[in-house]
Amino acid sequence: AADIKVIDRCNLTILSEPGHEDLAEFLAAEQVAVSASLPCYSRDNVDIQRGDGVFERSIAGLRKLNALGYGQPGSNLELNLVYNPQGPSLPPPQQALENDYKAHLKEDFGIVFNHLHTITNQPIARFGSTLVSRGQFEGYMQLLRDNFSADNLAGVMCRGTVSVDWRGYLYDCDFNQMLDLPMPVLASDRPHLRELLEQPLNQHPIATRDHCFACTAGQGSSCGGTLN
Ligand code: SF4
Repeated sequence: AADIKVIDRCNLTILSEPGHEDLAEFLAAEQVAVSASLPCYSRDNVDIQRGDGVFERSIAGLRKLNALGYGQPGSNLELNLVYNPQGPSLPPPQQALENDYKAHLKEDFGIVFNHLHTITNQPIARFGSTLVSRGQFEGYMQLLRDNFSADNLAGVMCRGTVSVDWRGYLYDCDFNQMLDLPMPVLASDRPHLRELLEQPLNQHPIATRDHCFACTAGQGSSCGGTLN
């Protein structure tokens, strides 16, 4: 399994939670790539969206990762940040935003990272509920459908990545994991990681629903950011 890349979708504040102080060291020792959400490089915007003190703890988490080699030039410890739009819109161009993040985080906090990934919000879970409560759900779905691009189909992450929950159960992506939509494969209602070793996944079906339009809209969206 040495050629399998493992990515941890990391909440930066967990790195300073009591009982999890050694998590960053563990991830570094296991050569796990870290992908962490940071909705803005400004304290005020992050704290308004995520709660008081979240920005400070996120910066502390990033400093800890940098000190272990994450995101540093020449290091093989990958550190990527994730940006989602806050409202019912498609993300802005990824490269320009990455340049802004890199400049601000380096200048203000001495923090470095590899790439910023802009990800289109999925109309599910908390974001989906917010859209429904504001009467914006249908409009957002229409925006996603109107911006469908077939060029993105070859790159959607479910074609080359599996998502594994903490119990070892398998999903086509972390969005399907949030929806508790298991990978439709392995002749099992609940395919598990242990079954994967005996079963190649080539050509297996993928559980798609309307939320998949978020991956195919505009410049495309995946755990690696835009697709084109
Ligand atoms: S949301 Fe749909 S298209 Fe996107 S990665 Fe998951 S299964 Fe694939």
